[in-house]
Amino acid sequence: MNANRIVVKLGVTIFSLFLVVLFPMGFVINQIFSGFYYSQVQKQIEQLASRYAAEISASTSSMTVTMIEMMSAFADVKSLVVDAEGQIVANSGVSWRPLNSLIPKEEMNRLASAKAVQIEMVDPVSQERFVASGQPIVSEGRFYGAVYVLSSVDVIDRSLQKVRGSLILSGVGAFFLALGLIFVLSRKLSEPLVRMEKATRRIAKGELDTRVDIPSNDEIGSLAKAINDLAVDLQRYRDTRSEFFSNISHDLRTPMTNLEGYANVLREGLYESEEEKHKYLDIIHDESKRLTHLIQDLFELSKMEEGKISLQMEWIDLTEVVELAIRKVEPKAKHKKLVIRADMPQQVPFVYADGQRMQQVFMNLLDNAIRYTESGSILVEIRQAGPGKIATAVEDTGIGIPEEELPWVFERFYRVEKSRSREHGGTGLGLAIVKQLVEMQGGTVQVSSVPGKGTRFEIILPIGGDSP
Ligand code: ADP
Repeated sequence: MNANRIVVKLGVTIFSLFLVVLFPMGFVINQIFSGFYYSQVQKQIEQLASRYAAEISASTSSMTVTMIEMMSAFADVKSLVVDAEGQIVANSGVSWRPLNSLIPKEEMNRLASAKAVQIEMVDPVSQERFVASGQPIVSEGRFYGAVYVLSSVDVIDRSLQKVRGSLILSGVGAFFLALGLIFVLSRKLSEPLVRMEKATRRIAKGELDTRVDIPSNDEIGSLAKAINDLAVDLQRYRDTRSEFFSNISHDLRTPMTNLEGYANVLREGLYESEEEKHKYLDIIHDESKRLTHLIQDLFELSKMEEGKISLQMEWIDLTEVVELAIRKVEPKAKHKKLVIRADMPQQVPFVYADGQRMQQVFMNLLDNAIRYTESGSILVEIRQAGPGKIATAVEDTGIGIPEEELPWVFERFYRVEKSRSREHGGTGLGLAIVKQLVEMQGGTVQVSSVPGKGTRFEIILPIGGDSP
């Protein structure tokens, strides 16, 4: 049996506890009982001996001693009466102290000074043990002798034996009860753990639809739930990863094919005029730009998702950031005859954010607005949105996004119309980058759109930090 199993560990712990508790407890109970019995008997014989001594000292009759012998027989004790010299004058059943023999001198001295004696005696023949109490007989200040009362401790030993027997019996009973308890408990504990171990191994092998069914509400139940959640997460991760790779390979292959094709045309001289040659060179130029753009976006996004990007947080003026972004995209807007308007109050509170990254956010939104708008205008807004918040928006009068597509536009590689986005030079990563950057700075981004009328992206940023 493996010593590391829960059953073994639990068993050893419970049994050790058992030994630590049960043995001292048994010992203490035994001591209490024996102490109690001995003191009871001692008290009894002490009382009897003083009563007999009092009776003898009060009586003048020679019958008193005979009466005491009889009473001792009734009380199931033995007695001795000694005179002032220590000689035994009456004996009821103390065979090893015959009549006329002398009791030890030191006992006699003690009794003569009117003090009681407590001693233990052993019958030399039967080896029976006795406790004895000797009380002096004193009358009117004169010492006449003493009375000894003896009680066998065999009775006590027998009673104690019984108590010890019951103690051992209950100890053995408790031992077997604990054994059963350990068995039930360890099965209850280890069985779900074994099931979870098997499930986790199956998940590790790639069987991600594996689930553990443990409905309990305790720690084991929450561990099972955590394993199930992990399996769900892994499955989702695997699905998105394969989708991501198929998207990447498609997006990389298209410009590569174009590059290869047109480069070939040029190399083979398969053009009829200089004008045609320039057209092909333009295509090669655009495609390589798009490829660089795509690789850059991918690199950025993966760095962000892995948390490897660090923000340069500082107090920034959002109006400046927006104006800079507008200036950079203006040529593209002019090319499509689109007007970019900015609606910003004179005084906008500074926000604690990364200026470069916020510029990238606005450039992505403005690029999209220009890309998906054929005529009309683009509006950039900044306003205070409640205490501690600034709202910014980029709104266009473009083609719009159907309502059912809105929840997905922030997903990596999601495109409302696949071919159109590529046609426009989009990578499908712009909005995913916007969302990541905004959320990293504690903000939120939302989209609303009416197909055919236009789209509005709204970003809410916390002013953040301590007031500037
Ligand atoms: P892309 O590089 O393809 O533009 P984005 O992640 O920036 O990728 O956007 C995802 C998709 O959302 C786009 O393909 C496009 O269909 C849609 N979209 C984004 N911005 C706009 C907009 N202003 N108007 C209409 N559709 C938009």
